[in-house]
Amino acid sequence: MEDDSLDVLRFRERLGLPGIIDVHTHFMPERVLRKVWAYFDSVGPLTGMEWPITYRHEEEQRLALIRSFGVLRFTSMLYPHKPGMARWLNDWAAGFAARVPDCLHTATLFPEEGVEVYVKEAVESGARVFKSHLQVGAYDPNDPLLEPAWGLLAEAGVPVVMHCGSGPAPGRFTGPGPVGRLLARHPRLRLVVAHMGMPEYGEFLALAQAYPEVRLDTTMAFTDFSEGFAPFPAAERGRLADLGDRILLGTDFPNIPYPYVHQLEALERLGLGDAWLRAVCYRNAEALFGPVA
Ligand SMILES: [Zn+2]
Repeated sequence: MEDDSLDVLRFRERLGLPGIIDVHTHFMPERVLRKVWAYFDSVGPLTGMEWPITYRHEEEQRLALIRSFGVLRFTSMLYPHKPGMARWLNDWAAGFAARVPDCLHTATLFPEEGVEVYVKEAVESGARVFKSHLQVGAYDPNDPLLEPAWGLLAEAGVPVVMHCGSGPAPGRFTGPGPVGRLLARHPRLRLVVAHMGMPEYGEFLALAQAYPEVRLDTTMAFTDFSEGFAPFPAAERGRLADLGDRILLGTDFPNIPYPYVHQLEALERLGLGDAWLRAVCYRNAEALFGPVA
């Protein structure tokens, strides 16, 4: 067992958790993942923010690693950057979930002709969670083409993990404004705000307070890396406690510039207590996705 796994094991044992549920991890077709890694390799020189990927391994090894951390359920977050890609990504993710049963069947969408059809097909074929990336996709969540898909997902109660905050780079449609308008029309949509809405933490926490079905994932938030460019405001800590049943562990494994356990330590050092940690790292996701078989 690698040192990383032992560190995670100690964290779990101290909390008495049977395992961890990580709602935000990336497994992708090899070709797509290589492109994502190339992007992170290039952001260093572009932004002055080096992003060395800790777990740049073959898929088999990445799966062995995440299991060695005691992660009992995870996702294969995929997202298109142009039309005509989502259906293909969804086919891949369905196949992945079929051969990797501890991965929740994940799907994605894009504003394009036919989106309602493939979203419906994905839900009917058992998709448990969707991913929407407003920065990479550069689309407005209020695009009329998406309207039936949001309605369908709200009705089906299928969570949508959405990268809607403006970190690490803003997009035309990131920020709380566009998502606020979406929720005003679809108040029951099970939106999971990725990265705690970084850097617009307060605004996205306010949306979660206004809409009981809105949740947030912790992906990369509170880590030394993110605190360096988008620090979580100390004044908002009370709201983290208040929303303790709506915060879900996410990590961005394997594309992270630090060891996996650092995300857990970053949550622990918020000082919100063991019950809060147990809820965030396991119970809240268990309540949302059902007990681990
Ligand atoms: Zn991610």
